[in-house]
Formats: sequence, structure tokens, C-alpha cells
Amino acid sequence: MSQNEASAGKAFPRVILHADMDAFYASVEQRDHPELRGKPIAVGGESSRGVVSAASYEAREFGVRSAMPSFEARRRCPELIFVRGNMALYAKESRRIFRIFDDFSPRVQGLSLDEAFLDLTGSERLLGPAREVGERLRKRVREETGLAVSCGIGPVKMVAKIASGAAKPDGLVEVRADEVREFLAPLPVRAIWGVGPVGAGRLTAAGFETLGALAAANTETVRLRLGGWGVEIARLARGEDIREVEAYTEAKSYSEENTFASDIRDHAVLEATILTHAESVARRLRRDEIKARVVVLKWSPAERRAPGPRGYATRSRQLTLAEATDDGEVLAREARRLLARAPIDRAVRLIGVGAEGLEPAAAPQLALFDDAPEKKRRKELNRAMDEIADRFGGQALRRASQGSAERAGLSMQIKRGERVEDDDETSTSR
Ligand SMILES: [Mg+2]
Repeated sequence: MSQNEASAGKAFPRVILHADMDAFYASVEQRDHPELRGKPIAVGGESSRGVVSAASYEAREFGVRSAMPSFEARRRCPELIFVRGNMALYAKESRRIFRIFDDFSPRVQGLSLDEAFLDLTGSERLLGPAREVGERLRKRVREETGLAVSCGIGPVKMVAKIASGAAKPDGLVEVRADEVREFLAPLPVRAIWGVGPVGAGRLTAAGFETLGALAAANTETVRLRLGGWGVEIARLARGEDIREVEAYTEAKSYSEENTFASDIRDHAVLEATILTHAESVARRLRRDEIKARVVVLKWSPAERRAPGPRGYATRSRQLTLAEATDDGEVLAREARRLLARAPIDRAVRLIGVGAEGLEPAAAPQLALFDDAPEKKRRKELNRAMDEIADRFGGQALRRASQGSAERAGLSMQIKRGERVEDDDETSTSR
């Protein structure tokens, strides 16, 4: 987190715009079906196991929220109209909206189908003040799609995102650098992007209910009560967020590999190691709200082809998934399938797992749409694992099947690559 610190200082203020469509799916339905306008509607299944994917503002007045079980939504709002929804149509609208976003910034980072960060830093001379740019963007989205988008503008991502929430519905909120502390102070700690229920509970238990309280606290006090994690969160509470906008299409691939202390022949050990790497890669994908479509297995045979450390051949195989994923178990399963097919007949000195073919993770509302219970359970498990990893570090929690790698007592030097290099051979299997 420190490499960008210098550029995040006052000398180089950034201007970030967060654009977020208002009640996206529900608004598309109301636009296309005039009889639904002004009515409380929910996109999602009405069955006993159904879940609300999106709720119109009229429905929200009754307390209907996305991710709420449909029966609960019905209880709160008896006249609620359920609409099945049309994913293909929402995806098409999303592409139209992102094409508009692309006209306003060369750096657009999609967070979901209906939400993106636009980096407006340095564009003032060309496009005008950020607020005007935001209003023009809102107008164009309205004219071209008939839909409302709310915008938040701030010097850092987190502030921009909170500001767009404050702007809803159909509004724009700009928070200038000198207004950030005041803007954040009254908000609950939960408002920090990336702080889940577990983290919020920890902060509250340590005596910090609001961002203002955390921001004002002495750094050593925070460190004593919450460790380095708390210090980072306190920086965010002061509006010091150095996460920069990254266009996901330009994002690097995600990978992790290790060199074994001694060469490994046992496939069970290789498989367990693959799972460890896959979980770690998946966690980073989830943290960056990205999914991957391509799984890469990389390995190095133990025999040296030439003297020196570069004398080892590195090989890789990859396959493309039908559906992008951020689930470590899926990455591991596919990587193990590649292992099974790989021409590995002797010992291996290095093994790695990579994820490529990146795309923004779908909105939670999108994923809830037709989630099988098993998939939902896994998603909850993943979320819980991330929270524990955030709290205690990545090694704190392993799935039961990862035990064998630990028992094997390997000293593994793990390298977190940003790029899977194909030094020698790459073949694509499908
Ligand atoms: Mg939205």
C-alpha cells in the first residue's frame, strides 16, 4: 500500500467519480413497462425460496431491500409486484452505460453491471470542473438509456462511493478534499468500503462507533487495540485512501507459486499445494472485486536443462471456464484437472496457480439471481474466510482438505506473481 503514498499526497490530488445506477434492474423494468411505474416492484423470484434481486424506490419505502427473501419482502409490502427479470437485457444496458462512461475517462473501473469508478484526475482543462462533468454524464445516461444514475465525487475512491450513496436517488454529491473529514465523521464505521460485519464489530468493541471517533483517535491507541489493520482503517476514516482507479481490462493477472524445499513427486502434495495457492489467488480476486475466466497451472520439472537458476524449464497449461469465478475451490478443481492431464512423470520443484481473463465481479444482486443453494453457501463461506483472513492474516484459516500440505511440513517459498509468465511452453486445453 505504500508505493503510491507519495503520489497520493496533497501535491497530486485525485478526482474520482463514482457512478451508480439507481435501482438498476427495477428501473429498466419500469422504463420498459409503463404500467409498473410509480409502483413498488421487486425483480426476483416469488417462490418460497426466492430472493429479491432489486427493489424499486417505491418498494424500498416499505423496507424491501435487495438480497431479502421474497416472502419477507411480501410481508413488508403486500402489494409488491414481482418481476422475473431479464439478465440478458440488463447486461446489454450495462454495456451501453459503460460506453458512455468510457467517453468521460480513459480510466474506468467497473465494480458491477451498474457501477463504476471514473478517474477524472487531470481532465479539468479538457472536460471542465468535475461537478459539471458529473452532471453531463448523468444527463447523457438519462437521454440515451432513460435511466437515472447517481454520482459521487471525491479525492479518493471510498469518499466518492459513499458520496454517490448520499446522492441517491438521481443526484450528485461532490466532496472536496477539505470537506472530507467533516463528511465522513458522522458515519458509522460500517460505511468504510471493505469493512464487513466482523470488522465493524471489532471497531465498535474497541470503542469506535463512528468514522469521526476513529479518525480523531491517537494512532498508537488504535494500534494497541486493533493492530495494523486498525491503523489502516483509521487512515481510511480520515479519507486517506490510496486505492487508485484501475481499469479492470488492464489489470494484471493474479497468480501465486512456490518453490519446494525439496523436489516433490507425490501428487497428493501437489494437489494440496494447488488448493492453497488457488484459495490465496481467489481471495485477492474477491478483494479486488474481480472474477477470472482462465485458470493457469504452472510448474517446473526438477531436472535442470542448463546451469544456473534459469536452467529450469517452466511450463504452463491453461483452460477457460464457462463462467468466471472468484471461488478458490473452483480454481483448485480446474488446476488439479490440468495437473492430471499434464505430462508430469518426474519430480517437480515449483508449482503455481494463476487466474487470467479478468472481468469485474457481478453485483451481489446479479449473483443472487439464480443462485443454487450450494453456490450461495460457498459464497457465504468465502466471505467468512475473507473476514477471518483480513483479521488474522491469510494463513489463519485453511479448508479441511488443505491439511496435508501443512502436515507434509514443506517449507514453501511463496511468490505472489502479478503475471503468469510463460517462459517456455503454453498450450491451451479446453
Ligand atoms: Mg446501483
